[in-house]
Amino acid sequence: MPWRRADQRPLGASSACNVATVVKAFYMSLLKSGKVREDLVCRLDAPASRTQRGTFVQRNPLAPKRTSRRPRVVTDATVQALFEPGILRSARDVMIVTWLHDTGIRVGGLCGLRFTDLHLVADHPCGQHRYPHIHVVGRNDNPNGARAKIPGALSRVQRSPEGHVIDGVIRAVSDDMISTFHAYLLDEYRPVQHFIGHQQALVHTGGRTPGAALTTAGVRGMLRRAGERAALSTRVTPHAFRHKAASDFYAATDFNAEEVAEEFGWSRPEMVTELYGKSASSSVLVHLGRHWAATARPSTERDLVPDRK
Ligand SMILES: [Zn+2]
Repeated sequence: MPWRRADQRPLGASSACNVATVVKAFYMSLLKSGKVREDLVCRLDAPASRTQRGTFVQRNPLAPKRTSRRPRVVTDATVQALFEPGILRSARDVMIVTWLHDTGIRVGGLCGLRFTDLHLVADHPCGQHRYPHIHVVGRNDNPNGARAKIPGALSRVQRSPEGHVIDGVIRAVSDDMISTFHAYLLDEYRPVQHFIGHQQALVHTGGRTPGAALTTAGVRGMLRRAGERAALSTRVTPHAFRHKAASDFYAATDFNAEEVAEEFGWSRPEMVTELYGKSASSSVLVHLGRHWAATARPSTERDLVPDRK
């Protein structure tokens, strides 16, 4: 990228797009003021083209080429490494990784959770789910600036006549999510509770600002440091857990994109098939297995076959 100095790290795809927008706007304004040769800038001003969905977009030739939509997924080995002793250093961090892993909740949704959103008992009086669950709801006034990304129609906080939070994206929770939450509450939240003047469930448990609501940057930093302690070769991001949880669940539902979209809060099932493919169904694996079994080549020595779990 020509506008990066040698000592700067390369930009990610999304920041490179932002830079491309700014650089293009700069040259377009020069063109209007007549301070630059027209033939140098006219390529930037390509006509709008039509997308697959029928809308028109102005292409920016400075923007990076679209990378593959295939997401980076946290591997099982990475998850195991994070749970080795001494890698996660507090009950809160164990809770965060457990919640990211089991639900694939977005980090904005996780940091945005208030105690009123956690219905961690069966048959909660909100009446919307038989099993323990949480409501991921959109709010603009969280003290940590966290915002859940919620499909449009579900974006306002709704309450039942009895005052319980209802609607939003309702996510079922696992037993481990409940037990790690209670461990955090007893061991780390209660001791700093007198500092706390907000409703967010995740807080700083020590440091200079005990009790302050934890930010999404705080979660990213915690994962980065844990990854360094575990000597992982790739960086662990909150979103990689979402990809793992969604793709695992997609396989568990025998590739039912509608079920995955509903559980994970995507507005359209196509978003699931775009991310995780639609052809990798278990019936394909069955057919491939038959195809491989019917081969004319001699079978491999058994001790050369890696263990399959
Ligand atoms: Zn509820």
